[in-house]
Amino acid sequence: MNSGSSRSNNNSNYTADSFINTLIDRVFNNQQISFKEASTLFSTADISALAEGANTITRKFNGEVVDIESLINAKSGRCPEDCSFCAQSSFYNTGISKYPLLSTEKLMEHARKAKKEGSTSFCLVCAYRSPPEKDFEQICESIIKIKNSVDIDVNVSLGFMTLERAKKLKSLGVKRYNHNLETAKSYFSEICTTHDYQDRVNTAKIVKKAGLELCCGGIIGMGETPEQRLELAFSLADLDPDEVPINILISREGTPLMHKNPLTNEDIIKTIAVWRFIMPKTILKIAGGREVYFRDNGKFALQAGANGIISGGYLTTGGTKHNKDIEMIKEIGLEV
Ligand code: SF4
Repeated sequence: MNSGSSRSNNNSNYTADSFINTLIDRVFNNQQISFKEASTLFSTADISALAEGANTITRKFNGEVVDIESLINAKSGRCPEDCSFCAQSSFYNTGISKYPLLSTEKLMEHARKAKKEGSTSFCLVCAYRSPPEKDFEQICESIIKIKNSVDIDVNVSLGFMTLERAKKLKSLGVKRYNHNLETAKSYFSEICTTHDYQDRVNTAKIVKKAGLELCCGGIIGMGETPEQRLELAFSLADLDPDEVPINILISREGTPLMHKNPLTNEDIIKTIAVWRFIMPKTILKIAGGREVYFRDNGKFALQAGANGIISGGYLTTGGTKHNKDIEMIKEIGLEV
């Protein structure tokens, strides 16, 4: 009986391995895997084989370097949108510190610090639906000064964009614009009612049209199904982003999602790994939630498809110090 069951386990392992290897070959030949194949991958019980497969794809297309990014919350809170995961929405009482747009001097100080600590890019994030003209002008001023004095890539996340504004940012030397799809189209109305999914897709397309690199990802663990997580990944792949941040929901007191059941570690790793099969060439960055969900701080995730991290803290929560992250990356034989 024992030997029979072990043979059947070996058989199922063999089947899972050969399925994963077939998909790796397809990805190496620049072929997109199908939704059904992604779903089968996600259901595979063998998380080690899945992670190893995703790691093989990451190393082939992205090399050994981990992209480390620093964020600065340049304008906090009082956002007129009602995204139900967000502590910065004016709809919810979350107790965060709220402040208007930071001065150019403050932003330059943060950019210098990020560079000194080893970040390759610095993302200036503001809680707006879209910035009022006066703030947009001030942000442009700050970008010019940072570009002139700090040797670091400048990325921004300012909410909805017009083509004209996106072109202006491009002309100032902004490298990448972040605008997330947040969740699957079929789940979007559950998490936001003040704008719709298409609004988000439109800004993502404008960003690309203006010649900026697109950073576009989402948040997992908001109550969506595993299929909806795959739906989001395929929608992201359609936009062909240069970077995809994967946030894992940190339920914030005062938001409608404060009592959501957290995802299991296995679900998160599988999601990252399968997203790597769907988007082999993008920077897949573990963003918010890394410190909360991974006891190893994301070591395994960086060997299971991810090749980027946010370091030094997030918009409304703290994070790991840069030197600890750099140590961790070197420990697993990767580069910064
Ligand atoms: S638009 Fe952005 S800042 Fe505003 S509530 Fe939604 S996620 Fe938060």
